[in-house]
Amino acid sequence: MKGQDTMDISSQEIEAIVRKVIAGINPATNVTPDIPAIKSPKYTGDNGVFERVEEAVEAAWKAQRDWVTNYKVEDRHRIVEAIRRCGRDHVEEWSHLIVEETQMGRYEDKVEKHLAVINKTPGPECLTTEAISGDAGLMIEEYAPFGVIGSITPTTNPTETMIHNTISMISGGNSIVFNVHPRAKRVCAECLQALHKAIVDAGGPANLITMLREPTMDTVDMLTSNPKVRLMTGTGGMGMVNALLRSGKKCIGAGAGNPPVIVDETADVELAARKIYEGASFDNNILCFAEKEVFVVSPNYEGFIHNIQKQGAYLLNNSQVEALVKICLEPNKNQSGYEVNKKWVGKNAALILAQIGVQVEDSCRLAVCEVPADHPFVLVEQMMPVLPIVRCSTFEEAMEKAVIAEQGNRHTSSIFSKDVDHMTRFARLIETTIYVKNSCTKAGVGIGGEGHCTMTIAGPTGEGITNAKSFCRRRRCMLAEGGLRII
Ligand code: NAD
Repeated sequence: MKGQDTMDISSQEIEAIVRKVIAGINPATNVTPDIPAIKSPKYTGDNGVFERVEEAVEAAWKAQRDWVTNYKVEDRHRIVEAIRRCGRDHVEEWSHLIVEETQMGRYEDKVEKHLAVINKTPGPECLTTEAISGDAGLMIEEYAPFGVIGSITPTTNPTETMIHNTISMISGGNSIVFNVHPRAKRVCAECLQALHKAIVDAGGPANLITMLREPTMDTVDMLTSNPKVRLMTGTGGMGMVNALLRSGKKCIGAGAGNPPVIVDETADVELAARKIYEGASFDNNILCFAEKEVFVVSPNYEGFIHNIQKQGAYLLNNSQVEALVKICLEPNKNQSGYEVNKKWVGKNAALILAQIGVQVEDSCRLAVCEVPADHPFVLVEQMMPVLPIVRCSTFEEAMEKAVIAEQGNRHTSSIFSKDVDHMTRFARLIETTIYVKNSCTKAGVGIGGEGHCTMTIAGPTGEGITNAKSFCRRRRCMLAEGGLRII
């Protein structure tokens, strides 16, 4: 235009700027301003949010009876589609609210996580019936609901877990009472009420999904001991999972991880550095399946350090590592002698580094440090964008140290290698639920990888990458006397 400056800017760039503005990030500096006060909830009335456990369970119980008695499978499909549409409409809003309320993670990565669970959590179509017909008749085995499910959700993926569990559990004919993390209860109430409205607007029963307005440890106990709750699921740390396992109720536990990565002597170090930088910095490393420590076999060590710095990682020196241990960890009586300082979980690398006087651009998403295998940064599940790297002389040494670091969680691990024998040996030794070769560990839950998505990875109880099948009972129906057999 005459008399004015013009510039070439693509529609993707415009969209990226708009997304940043929605998230409150200054597009010019990429700096997130001080987090504003939480807005008051948009939804009023119950809409599935209850004050008392008994009321929530009773309402969810009635809804579940209605759901299995008066609705067809095609209704389940329609309502799951309505949930997906509702989720897509709210992705930006919920991602923004999570950052406000939990003060953890990165807005743009939360958008990606939400889209993954919305689009890639299977619905009722995964509940396939098995049939055997023979001389003695016809046998079918079907996936039947448990009934009311109690669902405990984490602060690290609050609404992402709520969306995944809602799609999976109601696809299986269940209803839900959520006991969400107290530090994410406002955004979870927003999400639950929007999903609840979507279900009702699409013709589904009210209170198919419910939650407690003030979730506490006591409400967890009350939910677990309520006889109308037939299954408890817990997504979070091992303290909560172990408490559920001791309860005597049927439970599905999705617990902590501390995923190790091996970069062996045959690996493509450029690829390894690029993927590890991407995965370990995703949402500031708060995901249970994110890369938490790297074991590099000697010939590739310098190349890996060089390449990860080229990606943008800041390499800490020894005195900076010592200073950071005092900030990020707190003394404890457990194996490593430390536990994580929750104040710094999920914070941006630039903010964490500023605490020890290191100034980096906010675009620096990850700090890395060279440490021995018994360093607390290796053994403590930090959930911060500070990644320890351990030099190993041999592949065998890397495997041994990686298994120790994983601490028997059997959650997630990965390897960068071109040696198939190495890939197989490490998989057999570490026995993790998710095992990724030559990519980010998030590929293991379908984010940049094949396969369906979940935010409830049930390692301790064995359901693995959960979907609707995981939250169902197997029921057999027999028709005797060669019934319906036509061959
Ligand atoms: P957290 O254990 O502090 O809280 C998780 C939930 O459990 C919350 O709702 C909390 O209120 C409840 N809770 C905590 N202790 C409890 C107890 N003793 N009894 C009953 N309920 C209890 O975890 P978080 O900080 O929200 O999330 C981070 C942890 O969760 C990490 O360890 C991470 O690895 C793990 N996680 C695992 C998965 C998975 O799918 N396996 C997914 C997300 C997070």
